[in-house]
Amino acid sequence: MSRRKGYGLLIDYEYCTGCYTCQVACAQENQWPEGKSGMEVIEVVQKLPRDKAYLIYLPFPTELCILCSSRTQKGLEPACVQHCMAACMKYGKIVELAKEMAKKPRMVLWAPR
Ligand code: SF4
Ligand code: SF4
Repeated sequence: MSRRKGYGLLIDYEYCTGCYTCQVACAQENQWPEGKSGMEVIEVVQKLPRDKAYLIYLPFPTELCILCSSRTQKGLEPACVQHCMAACMKYGKIVELAKEMAKKPRMVLWAPR
């Protein structure tokens, strides 16, 4: 099933805890081979003074992301959106998501070709 044109994911990673639930939910929903997923959570380590570190987690859609077309065409949320307890991700029309993105920093808009 093909992706819906003009739709994408808005990812607000400010509150991402790095729980990897989105990655697992995608792999289970789409039955990807072991170790593969449409979502990968990337850990970024920012070194701070006095041997301290600040961790940032960034959920990042991979080339496998099909925007859960079989779910969204039935009116359901994508698996990653539904299972994120921190509500970091939103699925919708790219034009609407882009307006929302302008309101706050630390957001990424993912729009497939
Ligand atoms: S986006 Fe949500 S589900 Fe994914 S790692 Fe971050 S908090 Fe967890
Ligand atoms: S939208 Fe669907 S296919 Fe894309 S990352 Fe989320 S769960 Fe995976």
